[in-house]
Amino acid sequence: MASIEQLRPLQVEPPVTFDSVDPATGAPIATFPVDDAEAVGRIVDRSEAAAVWWRSLGFDGRSVHLRRYKSEIARRIDELADLIHRENGKPHGDAVLEITLVVDHLAWASGHAKKVLGPRRVRSGLMAANNASSIEYQPLGVVGVIGPWNYPVFTPMGSIAYALAAGNAVVFKPSEYTPAIGRWLVDAWARAVPEGKDVFLLTTGHAATGAALCRSGVDKIAFTGSAATGRKVMGACAEGLVPVLMECGGKDALLVDADADLHAAADAALWCGMSNGGQTCIGTERVYVADAAYDRFVGILTTMAKELAPGSGEGASWGPPTMPSQVDTIRRHVSDALARGGHAVVGGESSIDGSGVGPTILVDVPEDADAVREETFGPTLTVTRVKDMEEGLALANDSDYGLGGAVFTRSRKRGIELARRMRSGMTSVNSIMTFAMVPGLPFGGVGESGFGRIHGPDGLREFTRSKAVTSQRFALPVNLTSFGRPERATAVAAKLMGAVHGRNR
Ligand code: NAD
Repeated sequence: MASIEQLRPLQVEPPVTFDSVDPATGAPIATFPVDDAEAVGRIVDRSEAAAVWWRSLGFDGRSVHLRRYKSEIARRIDELADLIHRENGKPHGDAVLEITLVVDHLAWASGHAKKVLGPRRVRSGLMAANNASSIEYQPLGVVGVIGPWNYPVFTPMGSIAYALAAGNAVVFKPSEYTPAIGRWLVDAWARAVPEGKDVFLLTTGHAATGAALCRSGVDKIAFTGSAATGRKVMGACAEGLVPVLMECGGKDALLVDADADLHAAADAALWCGMSNGGQTCIGTERVYVADAAYDRFVGILTTMAKELAPGSGEGASWGPPTMPSQVDTIRRHVSDALARGGHAVVGGESSIDGSGVGPTILVDVPEDADAVREETFGPTLTVTRVKDMEEGLALANDSDYGLGGAVFTRSRKRGIELARRMRSGMTSVNSIMTFAMVPGLPFGGVGESGFGRIHGPDGLREFTRSKAVTSQRFALPVNLTSFGRPERATAVAAKLMGAVHGRNR
Protein backbone atom coordinates (compact mmCIF):
# COMPACT_ATOMS: atom_id res chain seq x y z
CA MET A 1 0.00 0.00 0.00
CA ALA A 2 1.20 3.52 -0.81
CA SER A 3 2.38 5.57 2.16
CA ILE A 4 0.96 9.03 2.99
CA GLU A 5 4.21 10.56 1.69
CA GLN A 6 3.70 8.88 -1.68
CA LEU A 7 0.07 10.02 -1.95
CA ARG A 8 0.89 13.69 -1.37
CA PRO A 9 0.66 15.74 -4.60
CA LEU A 10 4.05 16.15 -6.20
CA GLN A 11 5.72 19.39 -5.07
CA VAL A 12 6.55 21.30 -8.26
CA GLU A 13 9.31 23.85 -7.74
CA PRO A 14 8.23 27.24 -9.05
CA PRO A 15 10.44 28.24 -11.98
CA VAL A 16 13.23 30.64 -11.04
CA THR A 17 12.50 34.08 -12.36
CA PHE A 18 14.02 37.54 -12.47
CA ASP A 19 12.62 41.03 -12.95
CA SER A 20 13.80 43.68 -15.35
CA VAL A 21 13.60 47.19 -13.96
CA ASP A 22 13.41 50.80 -15.09
CA PRO A 23 16.94 52.12 -14.40
CA ALA A 24 15.54 55.60 -13.66
CA THR A 25 13.13 54.53 -10.92
CA GLY A 26 13.95 50.92 -10.08
CA ALA A 27 10.32 50.04 -10.80
CA PRO A 28 9.87 46.51 -12.13
CA ILE A 29 8.92 46.20 -15.80
CA ALA A 30 8.27 42.48 -16.19
CA THR A 31 9.23 39.07 -14.83
CA PHE A 32 11.10 36.48 -16.91
CA PRO A 33 12.11 32.86 -16.43
CA VAL A 34 15.74 32.01 -15.76
CA ASP A 35 16.08 29.26 -18.36
CA ASP A 36 18.31 26.39 -17.27
CA ALA A 37 20.13 24.05 -19.63
CA GLU A 38 17.07 21.82 -20.01
CA ALA A 39 14.78 24.74 -20.88
CA VAL A 40 17.33 26.13 -23.34
CA GLY A 41 17.61 22.66 -24.91
CA ARG A 42 13.83 22.49 -25.43
CA ILE A 43 13.81 25.91 -27.11
CA VAL A 44 16.70 24.96 -29.39
CA ASP A 45 14.89 21.71 -30.32
CA ARG A 46 11.82 23.70 -31.40
CA SER A 47 13.98 26.01 -33.37
CA GLU A 48 15.78 23.15 -35.14
CA ALA A 49 12.47 21.90 -36.51
CA ALA A 50 11.54 25.40 -37.66
CA ALA A 51 14.95 25.86 -39.30
CA VAL A 52 14.13 23.06 -41.77
CA TRP A 53 10.94 24.84 -42.88
CA TRP A 54 12.66 28.25 -43.03
CA ARG A 55 15.48 26.90 -45.17
CA SER A 56 13.03 25.20 -47.53
CA LEU A 57 11.41 28.55 -48.38
CA GLY A 58 14.48 29.70 -50.31
CA PHE A 59 15.58 33.31 -50.63
CA ASP A 60 12.39 34.61 -52.25
CA GLY A 61 10.07 32.92 -49.76
CA ARG A 62 12.08 34.13 -46.78
CA SER A 63 12.26 37.64 -48.17
CA VAL A 64 8.44 37.91 -48.09
CA HIS A 65 8.41 37.09 -44.36
CA LEU A 66 11.37 39.28 -43.52
CA ARG A 67 9.67 42.23 -45.21
CA ARG A 68 6.56 41.56 -43.12
CA TYR A 69 8.71 41.59 -39.98
CA LYS A 70 10.39 44.82 -41.07
CA SER A 71 6.96 46.46 -41.58
CA GLU A 72 5.74 45.21 -38.21
CA ILE A 73 8.68 46.94 -36.50
CA ALA A 74 8.44 50.07 -38.66
CA ARG A 75 4.73 50.52 -37.84
CA ARG A 76 5.40 50.29 -34.10
CA ILE A 77 8.57 52.32 -33.74
CA ASP A 78 7.10 54.53 -31.03
CA GLU A 79 5.82 51.59 -29.00
CA LEU A 80 9.23 49.89 -29.08
CA ALA A 81 11.03 53.19 -28.40
CA ASP A 82 8.89 53.71 -25.28
CA LEU A 83 9.88 50.28 -24.04
CA ILE A 84 13.57 50.94 -24.75
CA HIS A 85 13.31 54.24 -22.87
CA ARG A 86 11.78 52.45 -19.88
CA GLU A 87 14.00 49.39 -19.76
CA ASN A 88 17.35 50.72 -21.00
CA GLY A 89 16.92 54.36 -19.89
CA LYS A 90 17.98 56.12 -23.09
CA PRO A 91 15.95 59.12 -24.34
CA HIS A 92 12.98 58.28 -26.57
CA GLY A 93 14.51 60.10 -29.58
CA ASP A 94 17.73 58.06 -29.36
CA ALA A 95 15.67 54.88 -29.15
CA VAL A 96 13.78 55.89 -32.32
CA LEU A 97 17.08 56.44 -34.12
CA GLU A 98 18.29 53.01 -33.04
CA ILE A 99 15.15 51.31 -34.40
CA THR A 100 15.21 53.15 -37.73
CA LEU A 101 18.69 51.77 -38.38
CA VAL A 102 17.44 48.26 -37.68
CA VAL A 103 14.57 48.64 -40.13
CA ASP A 104 17.05 49.70 -42.81
CA HIS A 105 19.34 46.74 -42.08
CA LEU A 106 16.41 44.30 -42.24
CA ALA A 107 15.43 45.73 -45.62
CA TRP A 108 18.98 45.41 -46.92
CA ALA A 109 19.59 41.90 -45.60
CA SER A 110 16.35 40.52 -47.02
CA GLY A 111 16.84 42.34 -50.33
CA HIS A 112 20.44 41.22 -50.88
CA ALA A 113 20.61 37.69 -49.47
CA LYS A 114 19.89 35.98 -52.80
CA LYS A 115 22.46 37.97 -54.76
CA VAL A 116 25.20 37.59 -52.12
CA LEU A 117 24.59 33.98 -51.09
CA GLY A 118 22.86 32.32 -54.04
CA PRO A 119 24.63 29.92 -56.42
CA ARG A 120 27.18 31.55 -58.70
CA ARG A 121 29.42 30.11 -61.45
CA VAL A 122 33.18 30.02 -60.91
CA ARG A 123 35.79 29.51 -63.65
CA SER A 124 36.97 25.93 -63.57
CA GLY A 125 40.58 26.53 -64.59
CA LEU A 126 42.88 24.46 -66.74
CA MET A 127 42.91 21.20 -64.81
CA ALA A 128 39.10 20.96 -64.58
CA ALA A 129 38.15 22.70 -67.81
CA ASN A 130 35.61 19.96 -68.61
CA ASN A 131 33.59 20.84 -65.46
CA ALA A 132 31.08 23.51 -64.54
CA SER A 133 31.93 24.91 -61.09
CA SER A 134 29.72 26.81 -58.70
CA ILE A 135 29.69 28.15 -55.18
CA GLU A 136 26.79 28.92 -52.91
CA TYR A 137 26.42 29.88 -49.24
CA GLN A 138 24.13 27.60 -47.27
CA PRO A 139 22.52 28.28 -43.88
CA LEU A 140 24.11 26.77 -40.79
CA GLY A 141 20.88 25.73 -39.07
CA VAL A 142 20.24 27.41 -35.71
CA VAL A 143 22.21 30.48 -34.63
CA GLY A 144 22.33 31.43 -30.94
CA VAL A 145 22.54 35.19 -30.46
CA ILE A 146 23.75 36.52 -27.10
CA GLY A 147 23.21 40.25 -26.78
CA PRO A 148 24.18 43.21 -24.57
CA TRP A 149 21.95 45.91 -23.07
CA ASN A 150 23.43 49.14 -24.45
CA TYR A 151 21.80 49.02 -27.92
CA PRO A 152 19.29 46.31 -27.12
CA VAL A 153 17.72 46.39 -30.61
CA PHE A 154 20.40 47.55 -33.02
CA THR A 155 23.17 45.33 -31.70
CA PRO A 156 21.49 41.92 -31.58
CA MET A 157 19.54 42.62 -34.78
CA GLY A 158 22.86 43.10 -36.57
CA SER A 159 23.23 39.35 -36.12
CA ILE A 160 19.56 38.29 -36.05
CA ALA A 161 18.48 40.03 -39.29
CA TYR A 162 21.48 38.73 -41.23
CA ALA A 163 21.28 35.21 -39.77
CA LEU A 164 17.56 34.96 -40.64
CA ALA A 165 18.09 36.35 -44.14
CA ALA A 166 20.82 33.77 -44.68
CA GLY A 167 18.26 31.04 -43.92
CA ASN A 168 18.92 30.19 -40.27
CA ALA A 169 16.57 29.98 -37.32
CA VAL A 170 17.64 32.08 -34.33
CA VAL A 171 17.47 31.63 -30.56
CA PHE A 172 18.08 34.98 -28.88
CA LYS A 173 19.31 35.47 -25.32
CA PRO A 174 19.04 39.18 -24.57
CA SER A 175 20.94 40.81 -21.72
CA GLU A 176 19.38 40.28 -18.31
CA TYR A 177 19.05 44.09 -18.19
CA THR A 178 16.86 44.26 -21.31
CA PRO A 179 14.79 41.04 -21.61
CA ALA A 180 11.47 42.83 -22.26
CA ILE A 181 12.94 44.41 -25.39
CA GLY A 182 14.07 40.95 -26.51
CA ARG A 183 10.58 39.61 -25.81
CA TRP A 184 9.10 42.45 -27.91
CA LEU A 185 11.33 41.61 -30.88
CA VAL A 186 10.39 37.92 -30.76
CA ASP A 187 6.67 38.64 -30.26
CA ALA A 188 6.73 41.01 -33.24
CA TRP A 189 8.17 38.17 -35.32
CA ALA A 190 5.38 35.81 -34.20
CA ARG A 191 2.76 38.42 -35.20
CA ALA A 192 4.38 39.03 -38.58
CA VAL A 193 5.18 35.38 -39.39
CA PRO A 194 2.67 33.26 -37.41
CA GLU A 195 3.26 30.19 -39.59
CA GLY A 196 6.97 30.31 -38.73
CA LYS A 197 6.96 31.67 -35.23
CA ASP A 198 9.52 29.13 -33.99
CA VAL A 199 12.06 30.45 -36.49
CA PHE A 200 12.94 33.20 -34.01
CA LEU A 201 12.72 32.27 -30.31
CA LEU A 202 13.72 33.77 -27.00
CA THR A 203 15.55 32.39 -24.01
CA THR A 204 16.05 34.52 -20.91
CA GLY A 205 18.40 34.47 -17.96
CA HIS A 206 21.90 35.41 -16.89
CA ALA A 207 25.39 34.08 -17.59
CA ALA A 208 24.42 30.43 -17.01
CA THR A 209 21.63 30.67 -19.60
CA GLY A 210 24.08 32.13 -22.12
CA ALA A 211 26.56 29.36 -21.35
CA ALA A 212 23.79 26.76 -21.76
CA LEU A 213 22.96 28.21 -25.18
CA CYS A 214 26.64 27.79 -26.17
CA ARG A 215 26.40 24.09 -25.20
CA SER A 216 22.90 23.45 -26.57
CA GLY A 217 23.87 22.15 -29.99
CA VAL A 218 23.34 25.41 -31.90
CA ASP A 219 25.36 25.70 -35.10
CA LYS A 220 26.94 29.07 -34.30
CA ILE A 221 27.03 31.62 -31.50
CA ALA A 222 26.92 35.32 -32.36
CA PHE A 223 28.10 37.05 -29.21
CA THR A 224 28.04 40.77 -28.50
CA GLY A 225 29.36 41.97 -25.16
CA SER A 226 32.60 42.50 -23.28
CA ALA A 227 35.84 40.79 -24.27
CA ALA A 228 36.02 39.19 -20.80
CA THR A 229 32.66 37.46 -21.31
CA GLY A 230 33.59 36.73 -24.92
CA ARG A 231 36.48 34.57 -23.69
CA LYS A 232 34.09 32.53 -21.54
CA VAL A 233 31.70 32.13 -24.47
CA MET A 234 34.55 30.94 -26.67
CA GLY A 235 35.57 28.46 -23.95
CA ALA A 236 32.08 26.99 -23.77
CA CYS A 237 31.79 26.88 -27.56
CA ALA A 238 35.20 25.24 -27.91
CA GLU A 239 33.85 22.11 -26.14
CA GLY A 240 31.56 21.40 -29.09
CA LEU A 241 33.63 23.09 -31.83
CA VAL A 242 30.80 25.61 -32.20
CA PRO A 243 31.96 28.52 -34.37
CA VAL A 244 31.67 32.00 -32.87
CA LEU A 245 31.28 35.60 -33.95
CA MET A 246 32.76 38.01 -31.40
CA GLU A 247 31.52 41.61 -31.29
CA CYS A 248 33.26 42.98 -28.22
CA GLY A 249 34.14 46.32 -26.68
CA GLY A 250 36.06 49.30 -27.97
CA LYS A 251 38.21 52.29 -27.05
CA ASP A 252 37.62 54.31 -30.17
CA ALA A 253 39.78 57.30 -31.07
CA LEU A 254 38.82 60.47 -32.91
CA LEU A 255 41.62 62.38 -34.65
CA VAL A 256 41.35 66.15 -35.17
CA ASP A 257 43.77 67.63 -37.69
CA ALA A 258 45.00 71.23 -37.50
CA ASP A 259 42.84 72.28 -40.46
CA ALA A 260 39.62 70.52 -39.33
CA ASP A 261 36.25 72.20 -38.82
CA LEU A 262 36.63 72.37 -35.05
CA HIS A 263 32.95 73.03 -34.30
CA ALA A 264 31.95 69.96 -36.30
CA ALA A 265 34.71 67.88 -34.68
CA ALA A 266 33.76 68.97 -31.14
CA ASP A 267 30.06 68.37 -31.79
CA ALA A 268 30.87 64.89 -33.17
CA ALA A 269 33.21 64.02 -30.29
CA LEU A 270 30.52 64.93 -27.76
CA TRP A 271 27.77 63.01 -29.50
CA CYS A 272 29.91 59.96 -30.17
CA GLY A 273 31.44 60.02 -26.70
CA MET A 274 28.45 60.93 -24.57
CA SER A 275 25.14 60.07 -26.27
CA ASN A 276 23.61 57.01 -24.64
CA GLY A 277 25.64 58.03 -21.57
CA GLY A 278 28.80 56.85 -23.33
CA GLN A 279 27.49 53.27 -23.26
CA THR A 280 28.37 52.73 -26.91
CA CYS A 281 30.78 50.12 -28.22
CA ILE A 282 31.73 52.44 -31.12
CA GLY A 283 31.66 55.52 -28.89
CA THR A 284 34.58 57.94 -28.93
CA GLU A 285 36.60 57.58 -25.73
CA ARG A 286 39.90 59.19 -26.80
CA VAL A 287 40.44 62.39 -28.82
CA TYR A 288 43.86 63.28 -30.29
CA VAL A 289 44.13 66.87 -31.49
CA ALA A 290 46.92 68.46 -33.55
CA ASP A 291 48.92 70.98 -31.53
CA ALA A 292 47.89 73.97 -33.69
CA ALA A 293 44.17 73.34 -33.06
CA TYR A 294 44.31 71.95 -29.53
CA ASP A 295 43.56 75.03 -27.41
CA ARG A 296 40.71 76.23 -29.65
CA PHE A 297 39.24 72.72 -29.84
CA VAL A 298 39.28 72.22 -26.07
CA GLY A 299 37.64 75.65 -25.64
CA ILE A 300 34.79 74.81 -28.03
CA LEU A 301 34.37 71.28 -26.62
CA THR A 302 34.24 72.59 -23.05
CA THR A 303 31.61 75.21 -23.83
CA MET A 304 29.44 72.69 -25.66
CA ALA A 305 29.81 69.97 -22.99
CA LYS A 306 28.60 72.29 -20.24
CA GLU A 307 25.21 72.38 -21.99
CA LEU A 308 24.74 68.62 -21.56
CA ALA A 309 22.99 66.96 -18.65
CA PRO A 310 21.76 63.45 -17.95
CA GLY A 311 18.26 62.65 -16.74
CA SER A 312 15.18 60.67 -17.54
CA GLY A 313 12.79 63.47 -18.50
CA GLU A 314 12.20 65.28 -21.80
CA GLY A 315 15.29 67.09 -23.04
CA ALA A 316 17.80 64.97 -21.11
CA SER A 317 21.02 64.48 -23.08
CA TRP A 318 21.19 60.85 -21.96
CA GLY A 319 19.60 58.56 -19.41
CA PRO A 320 20.70 56.95 -16.16
CA PRO A 321 23.33 54.16 -16.32
CA THR A 322 21.54 51.00 -17.44
CA MET A 323 23.88 48.74 -15.48
CA PRO A 324 24.52 50.34 -12.06
CA SER A 325 27.88 48.58 -11.54
CA GLN A 326 29.35 50.47 -14.53
CA VAL A 327 29.41 53.62 -12.39
CA ASP A 328 32.26 52.13 -10.33
CA THR A 329 34.35 51.63 -13.48
CA ILE A 330 33.72 55.21 -14.63
CA ARG A 331 34.66 56.55 -11.19
CA ARG A 332 37.80 54.42 -11.06
CA HIS A 333 38.96 55.65 -14.48
CA VAL A 334 38.33 59.33 -13.66
CA SER A 335 40.00 59.10 -10.23
CA ASP A 336 43.01 57.28 -11.65
CA ALA A 337 43.39 59.89 -14.43
CA LEU A 338 43.26 62.77 -11.93
CA ALA A 339 45.66 61.05 -9.53
CA ARG A 340 48.15 60.63 -12.37
CA GLY A 341 48.29 64.31 -13.26
CA GLY A 342 45.22 64.65 -15.49
CA HIS A 343 42.78 67.56 -15.18
CA ALA A 344 39.01 67.63 -15.58
CA VAL A 345 38.09 70.71 -17.64
CA VAL A 346 34.46 69.59 -17.42
CA GLY A 347 32.96 67.41 -14.65
CA GLY A 348 35.20 65.02 -12.75
CA GLU A 349 34.58 62.84 -9.72
CA SER A 350 31.78 65.15 -8.52
CA SER A 351 29.70 64.54 -11.63
CA ILE A 352 29.40 60.81 -10.93
CA ASP A 353 26.74 59.38 -8.67
CA GLY A 354 24.51 56.35 -8.70
CA SER A 355 21.50 58.09 -10.26
CA GLY A 356 23.28 59.73 -13.15
CA VAL A 357 26.68 60.46 -14.66
CA GLY A 358 27.37 63.95 -15.98
CA PRO A 359 29.84 64.86 -18.72
CA THR A 360 33.54 64.66 -17.91
CA ILE A 361 36.36 65.89 -20.14
CA LEU A 362 39.87 64.98 -19.08
CA VAL A 363 43.09 66.51 -20.39
CA ASP A 364 46.78 65.84 -19.69
CA VAL A 365 46.04 62.19 -18.95
CA PRO A 366 49.07 59.88 -19.38
CA GLU A 367 48.69 57.27 -22.10
CA ASP A 368 49.05 54.39 -19.66
CA ALA A 369 46.15 55.53 -17.45
CA ASP A 370 43.05 53.31 -17.20
CA ALA A 371 40.97 56.08 -18.80
CA VAL A 372 43.09 55.75 -21.96
CA ARG A 373 43.63 52.00 -22.02
CA GLU A 374 40.39 50.39 -20.77
CA GLU A 375 36.82 50.73 -22.02
CA THR A 376 35.18 53.31 -19.72
CA PHE A 377 31.61 53.11 -21.08
CA GLY A 378 30.63 56.44 -19.54
CA PRO A 379 30.12 60.04 -20.79
CA THR A 380 33.83 60.81 -20.54
CA LEU A 381 36.47 61.85 -23.05
CA THR A 382 40.22 62.13 -22.77
CA VAL A 383 41.61 64.89 -25.01
CA THR A 384 45.31 64.71 -25.83
CA ARG A 385 47.58 67.18 -27.62
CA VAL A 386 49.69 65.64 -30.40
CA LYS A 387 52.33 67.15 -32.68
CA ASP A 388 50.50 66.10 -35.83
CA MET A 389 48.23 63.37 -37.19
CA GLU A 390 51.11 60.91 -37.52
CA GLU A 391 51.60 61.03 -33.77
CA GLY A 392 47.82 60.99 -33.25
CA LEU A 393 47.44 57.90 -35.40
CA ALA A 394 50.30 56.11 -33.64
CA LEU A 395 48.66 56.74 -30.23
CA ALA A 396 45.20 55.83 -31.55
CA ASN A 397 46.59 52.55 -32.85
CA ASP A 398 48.44 51.76 -29.62
CA SER A 399 45.40 50.07 -28.09
CA ASP A 400 44.36 46.52 -27.36
CA TYR A 401 40.99 47.39 -28.90
CA GLY A 402 40.21 48.29 -32.51
CA LEU A 403 36.51 48.66 -33.23
CA GLY A 404 35.64 52.01 -34.89
CA GLY A 405 37.07 55.51 -35.07
CA ALA A 406 36.89 58.87 -36.82
CA VAL A 407 39.13 61.44 -38.49
CA PHE A 408 38.34 65.15 -38.89
CA THR A 409 40.33 67.08 -41.50
CA ARG A 410 39.68 69.56 -44.35
CA SER A 411 41.37 67.20 -46.79
CA ARG A 412 39.16 64.23 -47.59
CA LYS A 413 42.08 62.57 -49.34
CA ARG A 414 44.26 62.85 -46.22
CA GLY A 415 41.29 61.75 -44.09
CA ILE A 416 40.75 58.60 -46.10
CA GLU A 417 44.46 57.81 -46.02
CA LEU A 418 44.49 58.14 -42.20
CA ALA A 419 41.26 56.12 -41.94
CA ARG A 420 42.79 53.26 -43.91
CA ARG A 421 45.81 53.19 -41.60
CA MET A 422 43.74 53.28 -38.41
CA ARG A 423 43.84 49.87 -36.70
CA SER A 424 40.11 49.32 -36.46
CA GLY A 425 37.33 47.58 -38.32
CA MET A 426 35.55 50.82 -39.29
CA THR A 427 36.48 54.52 -39.54
CA SER A 428 34.43 57.55 -40.64
CA VAL A 429 35.95 60.73 -42.07
CA ASN A 430 34.38 64.04 -41.01
CA SER A 431 31.48 62.27 -39.29
CA ILE A 432 31.08 59.70 -36.57
CA MET A 433 29.56 56.18 -36.59
CA THR A 434 28.33 56.62 -40.18
CA PHE A 435 29.68 53.20 -41.12
CA ALA A 436 27.04 51.65 -38.83
CA MET A 437 24.28 53.33 -40.85
CA VAL A 438 25.41 51.91 -44.19
CA PRO A 439 23.83 48.44 -44.42
CA GLY A 440 26.21 47.40 -47.20
CA LEU A 441 29.31 47.90 -45.03
CA PRO A 442 30.69 45.26 -42.67
CA PHE A 443 30.74 45.95 -38.92
CA GLY A 444 33.25 44.41 -36.53
CA GLY A 445 36.60 44.86 -34.90
CA VAL A 446 40.16 43.66 -34.44
CA GLY A 447 42.11 42.61 -31.33
CA GLU A 448 40.10 42.79 -28.09
CA SER A 449 37.18 44.18 -30.11
CA GLY A 450 36.60 40.73 -31.55
CA PHE A 451 36.41 39.08 -34.95
CA GLY A 452 33.89 38.21 -37.59
CA ARG A 453 31.52 40.69 -39.21
CA ILE A 454 27.86 41.64 -39.11
CA HIS A 455 26.13 43.82 -41.76
CA GLY A 456 26.70 43.87 -45.50
CA PRO A 457 27.70 40.89 -47.66
CA ASP A 458 30.26 39.76 -45.04
CA GLY A 459 27.53 39.85 -42.41
CA LEU A 460 25.33 37.55 -44.51
CA ARG A 461 28.18 35.13 -45.25
CA GLU A 462 29.06 35.07 -41.52
CA PHE A 463 25.96 32.93 -40.94
CA THR A 464 26.55 30.43 -43.73
CA ARG A 465 28.95 27.77 -44.86
CA SER A 466 30.26 27.88 -48.38
CA LYS A 467 29.39 24.93 -50.59
CA ALA A 468 31.46 24.12 -53.65
CA VAL A 469 30.00 21.99 -56.45
CA THR A 470 31.61 20.79 -59.70
CA SER A 471 29.71 18.91 -62.38
CA GLN A 472 31.45 17.23 -65.27
CA ARG A 473 30.17 18.47 -68.63
CA PHE A 474 32.08 15.93 -70.73
CA ALA A 475 34.72 13.28 -70.13
CA LEU A 476 38.30 14.01 -71.21
CA PRO A 477 40.07 11.43 -73.39
CA VAL A 478 42.61 11.07 -70.57
CA ASN A 479 41.44 10.95 -66.98
CA LEU A 480 44.25 12.06 -64.63
CA THR A 481 42.41 10.91 -61.49
CA SER A 482 42.23 7.27 -62.50
CA PHE A 483 44.52 4.29 -61.91
CA GLY A 484 43.98 3.64 -65.59
CA ARG A 485 45.71 6.83 -66.77
CA PRO A 486 48.53 6.30 -69.29
CA GLU A 487 52.06 6.56 -67.91
CA ARG A 488 52.94 9.63 -70.00
CA ALA A 489 49.85 11.60 -68.91
CA THR A 490 51.41 13.34 -65.88
CA ALA A 491 54.53 14.24 -67.89
CA VAL A 492 52.28 15.89 -70.49
CA ALA A 493 50.42 17.73 -67.72
CA ALA A 494 53.72 19.00 -66.27
CA LYS A 495 54.83 20.18 -69.70
CA LEU A 496 51.53 21.96 -70.25
CA MET A 497 51.79 23.74 -66.88
CA GLY A 498 55.38 24.73 -67.64
CA ALA A 499 54.29 26.22 -70.94
CA VAL A 500 51.38 28.15 -69.44
CA HIS A 501 52.80 29.28 -66.09
CA GLY A 502 56.56 28.78 -66.36
CA ARG A 503 57.39 32.07 -68.02
CA ASN A 504 56.61 34.12 -64.87
CA ARG A 505 54.30 36.54 -66.70
P1 NAD B 1 28.51 41.34 -21.02
O1 NAD B 1 29.74 40.76 -21.60
O2 NAD B 1 28.45 41.52 -19.55
O3 NAD B 1 27.21 40.47 -21.39
C1 NAD B 1 26.82 40.23 -22.72
C2 NAD B 1 25.87 39.05 -22.74
O4 NAD B 1 26.58 37.87 -22.39
C3 NAD B 1 24.68 39.14 -21.78
O5 NAD B 1 23.53 38.66 -22.43
C4 NAD B 1 25.09 38.21 -20.66
O6 NAD B 1 24.01 37.64 -19.95
C5 NAD B 1 25.84 37.14 -21.43
N1 NAD B 1 26.79 36.36 -20.63
C6 NAD B 1 27.42 36.73 -19.50
N2 NAD B 1 28.25 35.74 -19.09
C7 NAD B 1 28.12 34.73 -19.97
C8 NAD B 1 28.71 33.44 -20.08
N3 NAD B 1 29.61 33.01 -19.20
N4 NAD B 1 28.35 32.67 -21.13
C9 NAD B 1 27.47 33.11 -22.05
N5 NAD B 1 26.86 34.31 -21.99
C10 NAD B 1 27.19 35.12 -20.96
O7 NAD B 1 28.29 42.71 -21.80
P2 NAD B 1 27.23 43.86 -21.53
O8 NAD B 1 27.62 44.57 -20.28
O9 NAD B 1 25.85 43.32 -21.64
O10 NAD B 1 27.47 44.82 -22.79
C11 NAD B 1 28.45 45.80 -22.84
C12 NAD B 1 29.64 45.35 -23.66
O11 NAD B 1 29.21 45.00 -24.97
C13 NAD B 1 30.66 46.46 -23.85
O12 NAD B 1 31.95 45.95 -23.75
C14 NAD B 1 30.38 46.93 -25.26
O13 NAD B 1 31.45 47.60 -25.88
C15 NAD B 1 30.05 45.66 -25.93
N6 NAD B 1 29.30 45.87 -27.17
C16 NAD B 1 29.91 45.56 -28.37
C17 NAD B 1 29.25 45.79 -29.57
C18 NAD B 1 29.88 45.46 -30.91
O14 NAD B 1 29.15 45.39 -31.89
N7 NAD B 1 31.18 45.23 -30.99
C19 NAD B 1 27.96 46.33 -29.54
C20 NAD B 1 27.37 46.63 -28.32
C21 NAD B 1 28.06 46.38 -27.15
